[in-house]
Amino acid sequence: MAPSDRKPARWSKRTLSAQAMGKTDPITGGIVPSIHIATTYLRDPDNQYSSGFVYGRPDNQTVREAEAVIAMWEEAEAALLFSSGMAAAIAVFMALKPGDHVLAPRVMYWALRNWLLTDAQQWGLHVELVDMGDLDAVKAAVKPGKTALVWIETPSNPLWSLTDIAALAEISHAAGARLAIDSTAATPVFTQPLALGADLVMHAATKALNGHSDVVAGALATAKQDAFWRKIVAHRKSFGAILGPFEAFLLIRGMRTLDLRVRAASATALDLAKRFQKHPDIADVLYPGLLSHPGHPIAASQMKGGFGHMLSIRVRGGEASAIATAAGVMLWKRATSLGGVESLIEHRASIEGDGSPCPTDLLRLSAGIEDPEDLFQDLDQALRRAHGSVG
Ligand SMILES: *Cc1c(COP(=O)(O)O)cnc(C)c1O
Repeated sequence: MAPSDRKPARWSKRTLSAQAMGKTDPITGGIVPSIHIATTYLRDPDNQYSSGFVYGRPDNQTVREAEAVIAMWEEAEAALLFSSGMAAAIAVFMALKPGDHVLAPRVMYWALRNWLLTDAQQWGLHVELVDMGDLDAVKAAVKPGKTALVWIETPSNPLWSLTDIAALAEISHAAGARLAIDSTAATPVFTQPLALGADLVMHAATKALNGHSDVVAGALATAKQDAFWRKIVAHRKSFGAILGPFEAFLLIRGMRTLDLRVRAASATALDLAKRFQKHPDIADVLYPGLLSHPGHPIAASQMKGGFGHMLSIRVRGGEASAIATAAGVMLWKRATSLGGVESLIEHRASIEGDGSPCPTDLLRLSAGIEDPEDLFQDLDQALRRAHGSVG
């Protein structure tokens, strides 16, 4: 089915998400469906499983309800939930065959980059890192008939570089490769990778999809339920990487407010980015919504309605000033991760460790839904104190 053939939903995505696809409890009429916790299901007297459920490792009704919301957001034929974002991402690579060639970005989510450069090689994948912003470099790196997968992340950690999804889809498909996208930072509110030609979308649902920093979860959504997708389904079943029903319930609850949260956080990120650009203690602000950001033209055409809740600042005075700034905040929470209702600040190079391409003067910011003025004031006082202009 071509992306354009998909029937538009009758209600908007914001509406469908707020009501978790309109599901209610069939027994009580409760407007919130129950959580299905059974690990095993009754077999019928005629030896069949008419309910379609057999056992909890392959499948679960509450997980299916969460998957339906994600598939709706991504305009996907199907979605699958995993016990983490990493489990979801690795499921895609494990569906490849030893010997397959894979392209991945040079700068990307650190833990997955590490896995690709270690375990993925043992599994027999030939992983090559390229600059996905350089289309000629990507064209030169794809090997027709050999490259099975091109993996991109846009905007990508922690510089928020943009990759042109439609251009990458064309290059990948011309070489017979699939295109998969880590769309965690973009969120399905602002970008629809499948509609732009991608084959698979991955989310660390731990982040904005859940949005409350209380669930670890990962999602995949597919344009087609083809043989490759069926391998991913089989992998989740054998590895037992399915999300738990309680986590799926929390995720459904988080996604009821996805649209509102993400739009508010994105507006805050843009506001902060513009104000920090003029800040005397900041050397550079990295945010795709700024005209000065190298990825802005692609972001402006590919992201609709906002540029996301993630930004980074490069602090004048180098690593020590950056760490001192993070130490001086009172409202922002000093923590890794992103996409929650509370704003987070992180000295990214410290967590990435040796070999990280992350600049040491960089602080990664995840805007939450607090009052943007409070967020500005708090970081402003931390910057000024770190630079000795106050007290
Ligand atoms: C957090 C994150 C992941 C990994 O997700 P987990 O749920 O922590 O396994 C992958 N990609 C991006 C962009 C992330 O932010």
